Order: sequence, then C-alpha cells, then structure tokens
Amino acid sequence: MKCLQSVRNGELLELLAWGQGELLRAGIEEGREECERVMMKLLRCSRAELFLKEHETDPSGIRNRFLEILEKRTKRVPLAYLLKETDFWHETLLVDERCLIPRPETEILVEQVLKNIGEMKKEKFSFLDLGTGSGAIAIAILRACGNATATMTDISGGALEAAFENLKRYGLENRAEIVPSDLFRAFTDPKKWDLIVSNPPYLSEKDLKEAQEELRYEPRMALDGGKDGLDFYRAIIAQAKDLLTAGGLIGFEVGAGQAETVSKWFQEAGYDNIQRFRDHLGIERVVMARRKN
Ligand code: GLN
Repeated sequence: MKCLQSVRNGELLELLAWGQGELLRAGIEEGREECERVMMKLLRCSRAELFLKEHETDPSGIRNRFLEILEKRTKRVPLAYLLKETDFWHETLLVDERCLIPRPETEILVEQVLKNIGEMKKEKFSFLDLGTGSGAIAIAILRACGNATATMTDISGGALEAAFENLKRYGLENRAEIVPSDLFRAFTDPKKWDLIVSNPPYLSEKDLKEAQEELRYEPRMALDGGKDGLDFYRAIIAQAKDLLTAGGLIGFEVGAGQAETVSKWFQEAGYDNIQRFRDHLGIERVVMARRKN
C-alpha cells in the first residue's frame, strides 16, 4: 500500500479520498462510506462531527491506525471484524472472527417472529436460538420481549463467548442460558420451548465456491450447509416438533431458493400454518411454522 505525502501530512478529507481509492483498487465499491465508518470509530464521533473535522490534520493521532485498518480491508477482511462491531436490529453487537457477522437479512426473521408470536409476547415464554453465533437473534428478541427467556446454543465455544459478551453488553445474562451443543444433542432431558429460531449454515458447496472473498474470514462451520446447503433444515425439522410446546412457533432464515423445499418438509412433518416471507430484494428469506395443538 502506497503512502502519499499528502496522506501523511494532509487533511482528513485527503486521507478519506485516498482510502476510497485504495479500496476501489481492491474491488470495494462502497469505499468512501467504509472509510468514513473507520474514521468515525477511531475518532469516536458521529458522521456530522466527522464532517466538521474534515479540514483538520490528524486530529487525535489516528492516521496510522487508519492506514493499518485500511491495509487489512484491502485484503478483504470484513469491515465488521476490523471495527469489532456491527449494527443489528436495534443493537450494536460485538463481532469478531469467532462468529458470523449478523446480516440485514436476518432482521427479517426477527421482524416476523416478533409479529407472529402474538399473545405470547404478553406472557412469559421461553425460546431456543439454535446456532446463535454472536447472539444477534436471541438478543433482539430478549430486548423486544421483556417476559422472554432464552436458551442459546452453538457448536462453537468461541461463538458462545462472543454471544455471552453481547448478552452482558445489554445486561441480559440473567435471562439467557448458554449451552454448547451440536444442534439438539445437549438436550438429553427433553425440554420444551414456545419458540425455536435459527439461522443455520445454509450455503451449498457451489455457493461457497462462488462466494465473495470476505466470506473466507468468517467461520466456515457457520456457513457450510452441506452439498445442497439444506443439511441443517433436514435435521432440525425432524427433531424440533417434539421440543416445541403445543402451538409453538419455529422460524428459520433460509438461503435464496431454499424456502420452497423447507416449507415442503415442514408440511410433510405435520406442522401447521407454514408461512414464507421475502426480504427487500424479493428473495424468500424466512420460513415459519407452528406445531399443532
Ligand atoms: N447470509 C450468509 C451469506 O449468504 C449465510 C449465512 C448462513 O449460512 N446462515 O453470506
């Protein structure tokens, strides 16, 4: 990475423009926005405050730190890992290499779950987040439903540590239990939940091969859904029915093109009220079903 003289001595504005150029060269189109986000984080300021500082030269001695982060970003390390946080729903969560970065698509699952739990919201209810990763889904539901308690599982100990840090960030550790588990395996003494949610790994072999470079930095086991990407839905649908209370709700995030198959499996397994929801691109992103009474 070349360091121009003007970048060494110049104003923040020049540093931003230079960063944008470097990122564009690395194939990143939204470079300006990303550079601003890095600056905002380093200067601990809002976008408006950043705008006011544009003509300052290295206001808080952040230039070298900025260059270091940019260099990593040109290697396509995801921005969220470099910033060590990401916005999800109404929260800002800690994320790092231990967990998948929560995506905006997953907010559709949260939104539809909150709409569809209906009366449950007023009473005490318990839910399971299977493969919780950073804890994003569970934390969003816990914060929206003061009467809810969560069981959060993941096969990855690292992910569970990150999830616990996020629970603590929002003071929710008393309303959630964290259980290391490969799907339902840890639950030998069957427990029942009123709601099961999951964004399981769903990329197919082909998706993984064609994926953008950033994905290489995320935990493979959070992404790899087997040959057709559907392995986890197969396993979860079969087992989940006995673990839901009567009338209990189950909601999945699914990959593009998977909703129909997943709905069919719900139907074959005897679930009720199967619904599908699209994301803002029109892709079917969420499948939900109820256990019959
Ligand atoms: N949404 C992620 C992606 O497409 C995949 C997440 C997952 O496998 N659950 O990159």
